[in-house]
Amino acid sequence: MGENGEKGENDVKDLTIIGGGPTGLFGLFYAGVRHLDTQLVEAMDELGGALSALYAVKHIYDMGGFPAILAKDLVAAMYEQADQWKYPIHLSQKILEVEERDGIYVLHSQSGEEFKSKTVLIANGNGSLAPRKLRIPGIEPLEDKQIFYTVKNMDTFRDKRVLVIGGGDSALDWALELEKVSKMVTLIHRLPVWQAHEATVRQLINSEVDVHFPRHEATQLHVTDGKLTGVTILNITSKETFDLEVDIILICIGFLMDTSVMRKWEIALEGKKGIKVDPATMATSRPGVYAAGDIAAYEGKINLIACGASEAAMAVNQAVRYINPDARLAPGHSSDMDIFKKPDS
Ligand SMILES: Cc1cc2nc3c(=O)[nH]c(=O)nc-3n(C[C@H](O)[C@H](O)[C@H](O)COP(=O)(O)OP(=O)(O)OC[C@H]3O[C@@H](n4cnc5c(N)ncnc54)[C@H](O)[C@@H]3O)c2cc1C
Repeated sequence: MGENGEKGENDVKDLTIIGGGPTGLFGLFYAGVRHLDTQLVEAMDELGGALSALYAVKHIYDMGGFPAILAKDLVAAMYEQADQWKYPIHLSQKILEVEERDGIYVLHSQSGEEFKSKTVLIANGNGSLAPRKLRIPGIEPLEDKQIFYTVKNMDTFRDKRVLVIGGGDSALDWALELEKVSKMVTLIHRLPVWQAHEATVRQLINSEVDVHFPRHEATQLHVTDGKLTGVTILNITSKETFDLEVDIILICIGFLMDTSVMRKWEIALEGKKGIKVDPATMATSRPGVYAAGDIAAYEGKINLIACGASEAAMAVNQAVRYINPDARLAPGHSSDMDIFKKPDS
């Protein structure tokens, strides 16, 4: 999944979507249905939001039409649907400011780029996601080589000696999944209690995973010629240490959500719950700026992928009306539209 198209110097789009999670992706698709010239900007280097960053290989069971689908497969399908229109997708562009200049919104990204637009759909979930890092000397050069914060590809871990760090659902789920493909899986957790579901803890205890709990932490990385070969583990209670040979470390100690940039967007917030919207229109306090998905806050809000998609469609239809007050609000039925490439029957 990559970036499409180029951005011209004075390119003013009808709509710019901030965030390439499921809500933003469905909004991008829907914008095409309503013929809005659109672009999407995403802070991370990949699409999918929480589905890619937090639970790519977990199943989702509550999407209409899919009795069960892996999160990453849902992202791929949503991308395929949105990509029909070949609208530009700008990855690694974290929006810091939303400025209004002569009736046009100018979005400023961290890398210094500007994205101009008549309307904006904010679909930035819980803000930008960054994995919580382990403070241990020498970790940075090994990141994305032998030290990972998420599993993108099971093959990376195949036949390897893996150390999983963490005691929450994702650490335990991954330890149990990796046990099926890795040569050896060890798990350590530094807190005195598990933070995962009881059933998962029971599964872990009955598995072949080598578990060091409670209160164990990694204190030193062993690196030879730039390669990770092992790690020193401290039993915090007894103060004893032991060395473990490992090829890969998977750190699952949570993600940090950063919503602080939004405070500069001059948009009314609903306490800490997100951006205040009118639930009938998804309009925010700034004219022509809409919010949908986990970031949109209103009475009765439910944070689900399906709800975000519905809110994105509502917001896009409103954006059409904002740009052209004479336009119809309701798009009609997709089954009657001739814009879609008909699948072979
Ligand atoms: C472990 C887990 C399991 C879940 N399981 C389910 C389930 O089974 N079914 C279900 O319906 N829901 C589930 N959810 C909830 C679901 O993942 C969310 O409701 C959904 O991801 C919200 O989508 P979103 O697009 O609004 O936000 P996100 O998925 O959070 O995506 C927001 C995107 O915006 C980007 N972004 C943020 N700030 C900026 C910025 N300043 N500039 C540019 N880009 C930015 C982020 O990088 C991110 O990619 C689960 C959540 C978790 C954590």
